[in-house]
Amino acid sequence: MNTPNLAGIGMTSQRTRERMVGRLLEQGIKDWAVLDIMRNTPRHLFLDEALSHRAYEDVALPIGYSQTISQPYVVARMTEAVLAGGHKPEKVLEIGTGCGYQTAVIAQLVGQVYSVERIRPLLEKARRNLGVLKLRNIEFKHADGSLGWADKGPFDAIIAAAAPQQVPAELLEQLAPDGRLIIPVGGSQGQELLLITRRADEYHRQVIAQVKFVPLLSGQLVS
Ligand code: SAH
Repeated sequence: MNTPNLAGIGMTSQRTRERMVGRLLEQGIKDWAVLDIMRNTPRHLFLDEALSHRAYEDVALPIGYSQTISQPYVVARMTEAVLAGGHKPEKVLEIGTGCGYQTAVIAQLVGQVYSVERIRPLLEKARRNLGVLKLRNIEFKHADGSLGWADKGPFDAIIAAAAPQQVPAELLEQLAPDGRLIIPVGGSQGQELLLITRRADEYHRQVIAQVKFVPLLSGQLVS
């Protein structure tokens, strides 16, 4: 296997990452920890070689199996929302690992990440990518993430990278006190990105952006 080019050159270089961070600042991302991690995480590594020169554009790009890598702004915004609770989240559940880029960003900012994906080849690809980056505080599961991961909860934060029509009750139940659920909700016409905060058994909802994610599908795919 070829050694991947972590630092990148040309359109995948450090300068291109700096430009991406400049755009994120203009778009309103304020958390320097998030910006710093995104400045130093090689997003091009998560894409097929034919697309890697577009890795730092602010768009979602195909990763196979009709799925997409989330656009940088959305990754930054969701990560910011995970961290905005005031103290460092110890346990974070991610639904929809995809290629693992969002996983990589979060894993560098929290204690432990649990990531669930229903398409096995994507999960394997993510596992390889995150291994290359030597990120070890991640556990993966091939399953339907709409059920959460009850054995590992409760979670300080849960983020979903795919949109259900309604918030799954299991995810609300697996939130720790003061836990934060960041999830897009709605149909293919567009969705609202919600931040739901648990206070005892009450849940406070806030809309943080208008977004367009792939649908959260039930069941798991074997191949
Ligand atoms: N953050 C990821 C986003 C991938 S797209 C990235 O940047 O690569 C959303 C992912 O959610 C897809 O990989 C899709 O297979 C997955 N997904 C959809 N429904 C799911 C479900 N019920 N359980 C787990 N994963 C799901």
